[in-house]
Amino acid sequence: MPINVFVPKFHTEEILSEIRECLDKGWTGMGFKTIEFENKWKEYTGLPFAHFLNSNTSGLHLAVHQLKMQNNWNEGDEIITTPITFVSTNHVILYERLKPVFADVDQYLCLDPDDVVRKITPKTRAVMYVGIGGNTGQYGRIIEICKKHKLKLILDAAHMAGTKFCGKHIGHEADVSVFSYQAVKNLPSADSGMICFNDEESDKLVRQLSWMGISKDTYQRFNKNEGSYKWRYDVPNLGFKYHGNSVVASIALVQLKYLDEDNLYRNLLADNYINLLQKTPNLKIVSIAPDCVSSRHLFQVLVPNRDNVIQTLYDHQIYPGVHYLDNTDYIMYHYAKGTCPQAEYYSEHLLSLPLHLNLTETDQQQIVEVLFNAIK
Ligand SMILES: *Cc1c(COP(=O)(O)O)cnc(C)c1O
Repeated sequence: MPINVFVPKFHTEEILSEIRECLDKGWTGMGFKTIEFENKWKEYTGLPFAHFLNSNTSGLHLAVHQLKMQNNWNEGDEIITTPITFVSTNHVILYERLKPVFADVDQYLCLDPDDVVRKITPKTRAVMYVGIGGNTGQYGRIIEICKKHKLKLILDAAHMAGTKFCGKHIGHEADVSVFSYQAVKNLPSADSGMICFNDEESDKLVRQLSWMGISKDTYQRFNKNEGSYKWRYDVPNLGFKYHGNSVVASIALVQLKYLDEDNLYRNLLADNYINLLQKTPNLKIVSIAPDCVSSRHLFQVLVPNRDNVIQTLYDHQIYPGVHYLDNTDYIMYHYAKGTCPQAEYYSEHLLSLPLHLNLTETDQQQIVEVLFNAIK
């Protein structure tokens, strides 16, 4: 049996009964289950606002778009971001004709606060922070830097469903945090995400922008005879079609019930790996920051001859991943090549070992044995 890096696990019967409710009611779109899931997410995280979207990528785009709009940023203004991430994180900055300025990463694979400070210019408006694998890295210092330099903090929390920072669910400290419920994330739906602003006004605006910029309020304010004009709305903004739907929310609702249990199992697997890997020479484990309880989306190690090691694992039907290649190696971001030496090093050495809910300790022993022989 091949061992894959990710295998999502779904509670099929429970999910089908939630979806059946949508079909019986004749309500598969926005509203109904999307609102129920938003409320459950707020309850779970303690975050004051949450708006359900069709992906994390849409959410990150909305976050940048909306902050640009609310704070009158200009084209060419800069957002400091990380080269070790999925390209969504950086593409959304370009969607808004802002400039991704890359800062280097630290031993946690998250933004290095010292390099972030070095990369601040008069045009810097925000920091885009990614908690790689569920790790918070030196997030506390990033928060301080953003306060001191009056920068907005956008958190790409795609890996962080269930991550706790200083005892609380992640997300409270950022101006906006965006979660992913994509098919292989810790809370897998099919494709969806959540955008969480910390103030009501922003939450209201993002709801409008995620549905074509349509506002019912604007019309109602000018029309006292509201009852007979329910069909009427105005469009004050150029919005997007980014909101989520009730069928996908049904999946997410059920998966959320098991998130803590699932993340606990992931942490158990991670601890097993740490024990099993003790004797493997020339291998370094990426550690979790001390003030973080990680969702453990990933278990990452650094190995020499990474590409050869991957080939050997493949030969044994073990399929690891790499999270991520240095984004400044991509044509789109080549202008920044050479600005992040640590990221370049990690990009050549990182390996994500299989980590999912069907993985067993026996699988792990087998993986570590093959890995040991591949490296030594
Ligand atoms: C998965 C992922 C995204 C994109 O999430 P989608 O929900 O697929 O749009 C963004 N950033 C990171 C770090 C991711 O891993």
